[in-house]
Amino acid sequence: MKRRALVTGGASGIGRACARRLADLGMQVVTADLSDQADHILDVTSEDDVRSLADELGAIDIVVNSAGILGASIPFLETSSETWAKVIGVNLLGTANVMRHFLPGMIGRGWGRVVNIASIAGKEGPADLAAYSASKAGVLALTKSVGKEIAKTGVLANAVAPGTILTPMSGVTDPELFAQLRSRSPMQREGTPAEVAELVAWLSSDACSFSTGAVYDISGGVATH
Ligand code: NAD
Repeated sequence: MKRRALVTGGASGIGRACARRLADLGMQVVTADLSDQADHILDVTSEDDVRSLADELGAIDIVVNSAGILGASIPFLETSSETWAKVIGVNLLGTANVMRHFLPGMIGRGWGRVVNIASIAGKEGPADLAAYSASKAGVLALTKSVGKEIAKTGVLANAVAPGTILTPMSGVTDPELFAQLRSRSPMQREGTPAEVAELVAWLSSDACSFSTGAVYDISGGVATH
């Protein structure tokens, strides 16, 4: 039987590349996104949307949580409570929402893989990205906790922490910040969505068998811890 994968944020960037890679590996892939370019229109922050999708799709073996937003790149003191609610809402609460609705089925069937796309920002906390960094640090902690809780169920939950990857999201970053990020990178380049998708494909497979609640960096050498 073909494994069935759900990729949130699957209409663009890293999510789209993950969907393609998993499909190339023979999986049946469903994408869900705010965008109508996905198979299903879904707002990950909506409990109703996610519950209906889980009911509609039935058995899903792999979930890649790639839906996310960057929010404004501005100093902390200029951020508003609306910014915080929005960024934490999509990146952290949205990821938790999707996990809460799809994990029970995987656990019931005794096999599953969850891959959460966090960010190196969640480990490093770059200036002017406090809400985004906090949301991604939350995704890392969420993955660590849940990964341990489900360790004996046959379902593994791991996180990926990419550095700068060439996608529409990184394109909205202020060019000065972008140049700064590149100059800090030992490889002196951004990553591609396909490079992230390769790691996600491994984390979604049987080949990944002794990792759960783990964080995998993919940053061209930027990550140091
Ligand atoms: P992207 O903007 O190309 O794709 C993000 C997708 O998420 C979009 O299709 C968007 O419509 C969707 N989305 C946003 N809010 C949503 C919601 N509420 N419900 C459903 N879908 C929603 O960006 P990307 O670079 O591919 O980002 C994918 C993930 O990777 C994000 O979680 C991002 O934080 C993370 N990430 C990106 C980079 C980078 O440099 N691009 C680095 C580290 C981590």
